[in-house]
Amino acid sequence: MNKRTFLKLIGSATLLRSLAGRLRASTTYCRRRPSDAGWPSEAAWKQLNAASGGNLIRVESPLSILKTDPESDAAKRLLEDLTNPYYIGDQPGLTQTLGWVDAWSTQPSVYAVAARSAQDMAAAVNFARENQLRLVVKGGGHSFQGTSNAPDSLLIWTRHMNDITMHSAFVPQGCERTLLPQAAVTVGAGVIGMQAYTVVTTQGGKYVQGGGCTTVGLAGLVQSGGFNSFSKHYGTAAGSLLEAEVVTADGAIRIANACTNPDLFWALKGGGGGSFGVVSKLTLRLHELPEFFSFVIFTVKATSDDAYRRLIRQFVGYYREHLFNDHWGGLAFLTPGNLLGIRMIACSLDNEQAKKIWQPFLDWAGRAPDDYSHQERVIIVSMPARLYWDVKWNTGFQRDQRPGAGPNNMWWQGDSRQVGWFLWGLQSLWLPASLLESDAQAELSDALFNGSRYHGYELQFDKGLAGAPPDAIAAARDTAINPAALTAFGFVIAGASNQGFAYPGVSGHEPSAENAHHAAEHIERCMDHLRALVPNPGSYVSETNYFEKDWQQSYWGTNYQRLADIKRKYDPDGLFFVHNGVGSEQWSADGFTKR
Ligand SMILES: Cc1cc2nc3c(=O)[nH]c(=O)nc-3n(C[C@H](O)[C@H](O)[C@H](O)COP(=O)(O)OP(=O)(O)OC[C@H]3O[C@@H](n4cnc5c(N)ncnc54)[C@H](O)[C@@H]3O)c2cc1C
Repeated sequence: MNKRTFLKLIGSATLLRSLAGRLRASTTYCRRRPSDAGWPSEAAWKQLNAASGGNLIRVESPLSILKTDPESDAAKRLLEDLTNPYYIGDQPGLTQTLGWVDAWSTQPSVYAVAARSAQDMAAAVNFARENQLRLVVKGGGHSFQGTSNAPDSLLIWTRHMNDITMHSAFVPQGCERTLLPQAAVTVGAGVIGMQAYTVVTTQGGKYVQGGGCTTVGLAGLVQSGGFNSFSKHYGTAAGSLLEAEVVTADGAIRIANACTNPDLFWALKGGGGGSFGVVSKLTLRLHELPEFFSFVIFTVKATSDDAYRRLIRQFVGYYREHLFNDHWGGLAFLTPGNLLGIRMIACSLDNEQAKKIWQPFLDWAGRAPDDYSHQERVIIVSMPARLYWDVKWNTGFQRDQRPGAGPNNMWWQGDSRQVGWFLWGLQSLWLPASLLESDAQAELSDALFNGSRYHGYELQFDKGLAGAPPDAIAAARDTAINPAALTAFGFVIAGASNQGFAYPGVSGHEPSAENAHHAAEHIERCMDHLRALVPNPGSYVSETNYFEKDWQQSYWGTNYQRLADIKRKYDPDGLFFVHNGVGSEQWSADGFTKR
C-alpha cells in the first residue's frame, strides 16, 4: 500500500468514526435540564400546577444558608433542625441521609408536585414524560443510595398523603372469588412508620409490618422488602402487601394485587422503590399482637483477643441453640475493641421466659471474671406489646421539639445518629443459616472475629427469615427480594459516618474524604472475611453499598430477570430511574442520558 492510499484509508476511517459519533450524538436520548432550550416554559409549569391541584412548588435547598450566611441565627437553627428527622421529612429539598462520600450529596429538584392524590401524581408523571424530564419520587426520604433526590429534576413528594384506614375484612379488587376477607390497613404513600404504628397498634391493638426506624416511609419500605425487630415473626413488609394503587409511566392509575396486574404487584414487593411507578396507596395485612415484647440489653467486654474469640464462639453456639427462632429479633454488635453488645427483642415472651433463656449465657461469661466484664447494667425486661409505640408509655423516644409538632412525632433515641448523616461507607450481607450448622460454627466464629479486627458491625437477626414461621417465609418467597434472605439467619451490616453534620461546600463541615476512605477500606476488609463464607453474597437493596459490585445479583439474585421483564412492560422508556435500580444499566449514572 502506498502512502497516498494509506492516508486515504486513515482519512475515511476517521471520517466514518466521526460520522458515527455524530449520528450517535444526534440519536442519544437526553433528559432536559433547566439550561436546555427544551426545558418547559413558565406557562407549561403553570399548566402542570393546574393539573396537579395547585400543588406545584419550587424547591430550594435549606442547606444553602449554611454557605451564604453561616453565622446567622437561621443557620444555627438549621443545624439543630438537621438532628430532627421530622424537620428533614418536612422539607422537599432535603433527605434523611445527606450524602455519601464519593457517591452523592443531597440536592433539590427544581420543582415538586406536593401530591395529595393519585391524580396529582399522574399529572406529574405525564408532564415529566412529555417534556423529557428527570423524575424522582420521595416519601420518607431515607434512601441511603440517594434515590429520592436528583438535581435538575421534577419531584413527586408524597409527604402529605398520610391517610390511614383500618379494615376488618379487606378483599383486594378482583380477588373476590379467590381470597378470603382479612384485617388490613390502607395507608397513603406518605405514611411513615410511627403514623401507622400509632393507628394500628397503639389505638387499634393490631400489628402491621413496618420499619424499625419510625420515620421510614412505608411505600419505600415495602418496595425494598422491609424489616423491623419483629420480622422474624411476622415476615417482611413486602410479604404483607395485599394491594397497591400505582401510577405507571404512561400516566395510568392502576391497581396491583394478586389478581389484577399480578406481575406489577410482585415487582412492587421488594423490586426497589422508584423503579416501576409511583405508589399512591398501599394496603397491608394486619397481624395479631402478642401480649408481650421483651428486651435484652447488655454489653460484654473481653479482656483479650483470645477471650473475645471464645466469647464469639460461645455466642454463635448459644444463638443457634436458644435464640434461632421466630421469637428473637434485634441485633448483636461486635467491635475492634472486643465488645459484644446485645440489643435483642423477643416477640411473645415475658420477662421470666426471656431471663431464663439468657441466664446460662450470662452465667458462662460470669464464671470468667478475668476474661469478661459487663460494660453496662444487664437489662432484661418485658412490656405489653400494645404500648411499644405508645409515646406516653415508652421512654425510648426522642421528641420533635418544634412548636406545633404532632404529639406522636417521635423517633428512637438509638436512631438519632443516623439523622442527617453523611455516610463514609456501608456494606452488608445476608448470612446463610447453614453457617450455624455445628460443623460450620467454628468457621463462622473465626470470620466474625477476623472481620471485627478491621471494623465494628451489627449482626441483625430479624433481617434473615430462616427460623421464621412457614407462612411468613412463604409470603416473602412470593416477593422480589433476593431469595438469600429466606434462608439467612441474619444480616451483617457495617457502616461509618463519624463526623456530625457534613455537607460539601459548607465551611468547617466538609465531608472528610480522608477519614471516609480509611473507614471504607476497613469496612471492605471486615466484610471480605464474611463474604468469603458465602458462595453468592447477597445484600439488602435498602441498606447496602452504593458501589455494590454485581448489584443485580446482590439485591435480587435469581429474581432479577423477571424484574427486568416487568420493568420493560410497564416502563419501556425508563421514565423511572434510580441508582442501581432495575433497568438503570441503560442510563448514565445521573439518569439523564440513555446509554
Ligand atoms: C435511619 C434509617 C433507618 C432505616 N431502618 C430500616 C429498617 O428498620 N428496616 C428496613 O427494612 N429498612 C430500613 N431502612 C431503609 C429504608 O427502609 C429504605 O431506605 C426505604 O426505602 C426508605 O423509604 P422512605 O420512603 O423513607 O425513603 P425514600 O428515600 O423517600 O424512598 C426510598 C426509595 O423508594 C422510592 N419511593 C418512595 N416512595 C415511593 C412511592 N410512593 N412510589 C414509588 N417509589 C417510592 C424513592 O424514589 C426511593 O427510590 C432505614 C434507612 C434509614 C436511613
